[in-house]
Amino acid sequence: MTEQLVSTNPANDEVVATFPVQTAEEVNAVVTRAQHAAPWWRDQGYDGRKDALQAWKRYIAKNAEDLVELMHRENGKPLTDARLEVMLALEHIAWTAKNAGKILKPEKRKTGLLLSNFSARVEHAPFGVVGVIGPWNYPIFTPNGSIATALAAGNTVVFKPSEYTPAIAKWYVDAFAAANPEAPAGVLSLVTGFGETGAALCRAGVDKLAFTGSAPTGRKVMAACAESLVPVVMELGGKDAAIVAEDADLAKAAEAIAFGAMGNSGQTCVGIERVYVERPVRDAFLEELKAQVKSIKPGSDKSSSYGPMTMPSQIAIVRRHVDDALSSGGTAVIGGRDSIGERYIEPVVILDPPHTSSAIQEETFGPTLTVTTVESLDEAVKLANDTPFGLAGAVFSKSRADEVVDGLETSQVSVNSVLGFAGMAALPLGGKGESGFGRIHGPEGLKEFTRPRAIATQNYAAPINLLTFGRKPWVVRLLPRMIRWIHAR
Ligand code: NDP
Repeated sequence: MTEQLVSTNPANDEVVATFPVQTAEEVNAVVTRAQHAAPWWRDQGYDGRKDALQAWKRYIAKNAEDLVELMHRENGKPLTDARLEVMLALEHIAWTAKNAGKILKPEKRKTGLLLSNFSARVEHAPFGVVGVIGPWNYPIFTPNGSIATALAAGNTVVFKPSEYTPAIAKWYVDAFAAANPEAPAGVLSLVTGFGETGAALCRAGVDKLAFTGSAPTGRKVMAACAESLVPVVMELGGKDAAIVAEDADLAKAAEAIAFGAMGNSGQTCVGIERVYVERPVRDAFLEELKAQVKSIKPGSDKSSSYGPMTMPSQIAIVRRHVDDALSSGGTAVIGGRDSIGERYIEPVVILDPPHTSSAIQEETFGPTLTVTTVESLDEAVKLANDTPFGLAGAVFSKSRADEVVDGLETSQVSVNSVLGFAGMAALPLGGKGESGFGRIHGPEGLKEFTRPRAIATQNYAAPINLLTFGRKPWVVRLLPRMIRWIHAR
């Protein structure tokens, strides 16, 4: 009998849906079907794909409450958070549908003096089939960043969702087919299973693979893709820091940081996990933070700020980080060890744990925050940069934000806010170091899912033709002089 994958509600363990664990042969068959659909999809051109993506977007929007309810059940996030996630995904589909043609249209290039009898252009060709391996924390928004972009660029897509959120993924994939009944099967397909199914997707003949998840699994995905030189995009974890300067609006900083750290139960790759605050305002900032966090409550009813931990094994990681931070000298200023329950974690804020503790150096992915006192913004920037990650960061300051932005080595930075860059479809998103590489979203994301093709056309025969064995003797004699005239001055 086929092995089954059972997805459950993290709030109460009720079964949400059952899916087959697909074997390598089954994954190969799905990728083959996607390969067959690729020419049809490519031939739709930018206008045809725009229509199809917009029809998909309208279908999702019209039926959004069904999806939102399913996201609440399978992922655990509150209904309002699920609505926000769907809204952001729709914004990204709309942007990429509208802009792909403009951004990816062929570009003329200069030919240079020697080949001035040519014209030259660069085309952005789709890869063919893109495999997308997605996470559970933002089960629509995050994979959509690769899927909608890859589709708009002319690729067909095979999506392997996390084992924790396959029903949400199936709804999203089925919505494309429902909105585009004339499209052949295989433009957007689903494969379900555990890590081995993901590994099989890497080896099934995809032309590019976009992965979102942890760095250790990212390495395995890269190794599997390396066997066939399949290029990859790696969207990995983060350890984002917020820097609070002496001149910051402390109430607004605390409000934004509380949301950035605790929202979605802290299960956000670009969530705030660390704060560096200048000493003169440290205590005032902590008071503002306490006032903000007081009203934050995890749960599963309408008044809950965030839901249960989606992946049960993450709770042990959060516990280890909190234990490590407290036993190595940090002080719990909000919550503590007792805040960590079996499904839900109450907010935890720890003051001044050592810089070497796991709560500072490793991704926690829970509703916890470290606050470190610093003597200067230079020290804040130095410590913020001193982890293996490089995803995003934030700065709160009225007059000195620019110098912090310059100093931070992350790939995204928020000024006097958090997370905003991820919601802007026109901005690229990606990492550095253990946070990965490659970009999704924006023009850079569209180009990531295409390969540039250089086309050089000879328009007329030039008197000086160097690209022939029949070069005239006077041309050969001219060459040393040309080198001097053109390049030695
Ligand atoms: P993983 O990185 O293990 O999994 C991410 C995706 O990869 C899932 O779809 C998973 O499938 C799949 N996968 C697992 N093993 C393989 C493999 N060998 N080959 C191909 N695909 C594979 O993340 P987890 O969900 O286990 O979370 C672990 C940690 O990752 C978290 O603690 C968090 O720190 C980080 N994370 C970061 C995210 C981000 O947005 N950057 C998102 C989610 C997690 P399956 O689920 O079926 O095992």
